[in-house]
Amino acid sequence: MTNAVFAGGTSRAGSSTTVGEVVNPADGTIVASFAMAAAADVDTAVAAAKDAFPGWSTAPPVERATALTRLAAILEGRAAEYALVETRQTGKPIRLSSEFDVPGSIDNVSFFAGAARNLEGKASAEWDGAHTSIIRREAIGVVGSIAPWNYPLQMSMWKILPAIAAGNTIVLKPAEITPLTSLMLAEDCVAAGIPAGVVNVVVGTGLEAGEALVSHPDVSMVSFTGSTPVGKRVMELATAGVKRVHLELGGKAPFVVFDDADLEAAVHGAVAGSLINTGQDCTAATRAYVQRPLYDAFVAGVADLYAGVRMGNPEDPATDLGPLISARQAERVAGFVDRARGYGARIVTGGMAPGGELAKGAFYSPTLVVDAAQDSDIVQNEIFGPVLVVLPFDTDDEGLALANDTVYGLAASAWTTDIFRGLRAQREIRAGCVWVNDHIPIVSEMPHGGYGQSGFGKDMSMYSFDEYTNIKHVSLDITGEARKPWHRTIFTDH
Ligand code: NAD
Repeated sequence: MTNAVFAGGTSRAGSSTTVGEVVNPADGTIVASFAMAAAADVDTAVAAAKDAFPGWSTAPPVERATALTRLAAILEGRAAEYALVETRQTGKPIRLSSEFDVPGSIDNVSFFAGAARNLEGKASAEWDGAHTSIIRREAIGVVGSIAPWNYPLQMSMWKILPAIAAGNTIVLKPAEITPLTSLMLAEDCVAAGIPAGVVNVVVGTGLEAGEALVSHPDVSMVSFTGSTPVGKRVMELATAGVKRVHLELGGKAPFVVFDDADLEAAVHGAVAGSLINTGQDCTAATRAYVQRPLYDAFVAGVADLYAGVRMGNPEDPATDLGPLISARQAERVAGFVDRARGYGARIVTGGMAPGGELAKGAFYSPTLVVDAAQDSDIVQNEIFGPVLVVLPFDTDDEGLALANDTVYGLAASAWTTDIFRGLRAQREIRAGCVWVNDHIPIVSEMPHGGYGQSGFGKDMSMYSFDEYTNIKHVSLDITGEARKPWHRTIFTDH
């Protein structure tokens, strides 16, 4: 049995009577099982984080940076192991976990090792001539973080790194179906010299451990990545304690192809951008809007490439596309496609689970959908699967308006060889990230976060410190006068 709690530098079993299992979605085998964490375990982990806060938040930044640099080296040494565990618990192809998830996570650690020594504020000045103002950026306290299952290691990194680089301590609740790399990471944090209690992990259900964490009186900030409905619940629970809230929620990224686009680039970009992580990516391309002259060629090009994508054993480096995270998620994706058929959409390719050897896993074929209405469920709601819907448009105004027509606003892309169209699109599309002539790449130096019901607050980059620090204004009188001019508001004789 795996231990579901890592608190104060010690690993232990959860105290819930519920048993959790990590199931490899490629073949249904059980990878690990554990007694889940319960509310009492959350109390233990929060207490450990609270105890560690005074020392960690006042440690010189160089100490935090040095420990993070050591962590990056440890992760480099274990990169292959991390990639394999990530692949086994999620079903994601080993090429993705070893070339994207793990190196991206290590790069994040290196970035925050440097960033820990570079917290910035406004320059000190005497704004009114009588006081010197100083800005302090201070750690907030114990952060309660909740992460999803789609990129378990990367999402743990995005939660843990800016929080601890800024001097906070953290209790992380990873998704209970993919906790293994988060638990490995917590142990490696201690091995790297990050003091016990700074990083704690509780693996339990959202209702039991998640709600206990968000509501805990000693948790000062809640950072959540997951679906929009659960994000709303988290925000509601955090309201009672007036806690700082950071929400990274769902997405429904548009992919706008203008009639002067490089068709080959757009088709390849759409296939890679819609199928990455089997479409279980909050920024994945989900709605392609293609200007009428390129529409037929774009649909044919994507269908052609979709047909050549190899589904199979995720541990085989030749595999392009793995299963969905679970049989339940595969059913959910099939439900969207079946309903779309029912209201007249046409499935150009895919639209089914493959048979044969793959039938024992949660696989679903790359699926291209056309003739769906803009207001239909398949266009408006997050599917989180290997499904791309393509719709035509005539004028640039129409294409941009359609791109903005959902409640989400996490990411988007525009495809054109005309710089003015590209500039217009990046300005007018309302999303936290707009790519021009690409879709998906992220870097540690740049922020990630949403508009609208995709949430608020930024992960990665120096902007993440705006979430994880309090800004304090210190104002020092420099006149030495006992009777200040402004006292006239009270004393008439001044
Ligand atoms: P989810 O909302 O179902 O679960 C996310 C986490 O919340 C899990 O750890 C879960 O146990 C926990 N949880 C569930 N109910 C809870 C409750 N009542 N109180 C507290 N915690 C609770 O999401 P998921 O299915 O794990 O992940 C997929 C979703 O995550 C998609 O909507 C995707 O777009 C989103 N996502 C967003 C980003 C981003 O950066 N915006 C990144 C990755 C994933």
